[in-house]
Amino acid sequence: MPTRVALIAHDHKKDDIVKLATEYVDTLRHCEIIATGTTGSRIEAATGVNVERMLSGPHGGDLQIGARLAEGNVDIVIFLRDPMTPQPHEPDINALVRACDVHDVPCATNISTARMLLDVLTLRQKNAA
Ligand code: PGA
Repeated sequence: MPTRVALIAHDHKKDDIVKLATEYVDTLRHCEIIATGTTGSRIEAATGVNVERMLSGPHGGDLQIGARLAEGNVDIVIFLRDPMTPQPHEPDINALVRACDVHDVPCATNISTARMLLDVLTLRQKNAA
């Protein structure tokens, strides 16, 4: 079964997640990707990878991803939060990160950790091939 990866980035981090997705496109191509609305369209446009898009974060996209995760349908979360800007949907963001901890799902909230997760995923894919 393909690894199910959720990708989310706040506005100031969108360029970073697009760069990351481009760098790991060969790995992500073999995954099922879900993302919040705007993050998803940016990644799809930049990489051509198929992305299932939820609502935009401030409209409930984080909660939709959290619900999926709680049902056991998300394996990895990469959530590039903007630590410098207050977000109107802060409770939703906390709910998603909490759901990752409740269900023990790896959650990267910065680029260095995201790279580590994606490196492991890349290695696993190579070993399985
Ligand atoms: P967006 O949502 O990808 O639709 O911008 C992300 C967020 O702000 O949580």
